[in-house]
Amino acid sequence: MHWVRPQGAGLRVSSALAHSQGAPFTGIGAHAAPKHDGRMGTGRGMRAILWVAAAAAAVMGSVGPCWAWGATGHEWVSGIAIEKLPDSLPAFVRTPEAAAEIAVMGRELDRSKGAGKTHDAERDPGHYVDLADDGSVEGVLPLDQLPETREAYDTALRAKGLTQYKAGYLPYAIVDGWQQLRKDFAYWRAAVKGAETARTTEERAWFEKDRALREKLTLRDIGIWSHYGADASQPLHVSVHYNGWGQYPNPNGYTTRKIHAYIEGEFVRRNLARAGVADLVGSYQPCGCSIEERTRVLLRASLAEVEPLYALEKEGGFKFGDPRGIVFATARLAAGATAVRDMIVQAWLESADTPVGYPMVNVRDIESGKVRATRELFGAD
Ligand SMILES: [Zn+2]
Repeated sequence: MHWVRPQGAGLRVSSALAHSQGAPFTGIGAHAAPKHDGRMGTGRGMRAILWVAAAAAAVMGSVGPCWAWGATGHEWVSGIAIEKLPDSLPAFVRTPEAAAEIAVMGRELDRSKGAGKTHDAERDPGHYVDLADDGSVEGVLPLDQLPETREAYDTALRAKGLTQYKAGYLPYAIVDGWQQLRKDFAYWRAAVKGAETARTTEERAWFEKDRALREKLTLRDIGIWSHYGADASQPLHVSVHYNGWGQYPNPNGYTTRKIHAYIEGEFVRRNLARAGVADLVGSYQPCGCSIEERTRVLLRASLAEVEPLYALEKEGGFKFGDPRGIVFATARLAAGATAVRDMIVQAWLESADTPVGYPMVNVRDIESGKVRATRELFGAD
């Protein structure tokens, strides 16, 4: 849910736009963060939800809050991403049961909203990032200059009178979860090899049990994390114009109405077809790039669709059943599923060269037989 953000963020952005660049960041610079969902957690919480629901009902004639892409959009993105995995990934990730469970988990981060003020205030800004039209966070921090950690990101924003909680930290949510997934896969590889090379029945049983647990954790981590990739494919999750054009120069007269929830929720649920989204997801494409760069590419692609979205809305393209809006939203959902699938594959590939255990050993050396995986390596006190 994006449209629940605090009012006034846009005003702050306007003044921030006067500054062109942030400090000379040398970090990887990979991501920005989303903000729609986060706005609810700042204490406006349920009040915001109710307000949004009321506004949506009044404006659109619909009822009920919408969530990010909406439950429908999130389930499609997460589920299709799994269905489109190549056969080279472990079978436990690709079963129909895994796809079905991950699809449902794809909307979990919206379902957990309202868990409590501490929870919401910290997590909601992970769903969005407020990019200005020039592609910089709130007009002050270019995407390619994002530092490697959220702490440094927040520090840089605070120097401009902003915070990660106002600007959103979606890029960091994506990379953080992806790094966890890469680690999950690395431990799974080690557990498989550990069972193969075990010297006792007990040791083999331990590794097989550990592998089974790793599989549960991995599916859970994919399911929860996949939410962010879907958010990043929604143009209104990566823009300062996140719910109506806002108080910015508006020579084309784009709407300032709260359109966010309707487009990502009800419009998708009642007009789009899952098969239409799946058909647009091609095969995995290596990018030869870091996860940070892949994340930037996704965010920029979504940002590039912000003005087209508003132009289409102005032409009536998101009226119920309009094929132009259907084509638009279908393409964005497919972009989300494609990105999530590609990131999962990249995590799997890079997990072959990831350290595990303590003291850390590279999975490469375990799989090659150079180092034998032992219980002590993964269970020492
Ligand atoms: Zn979200």
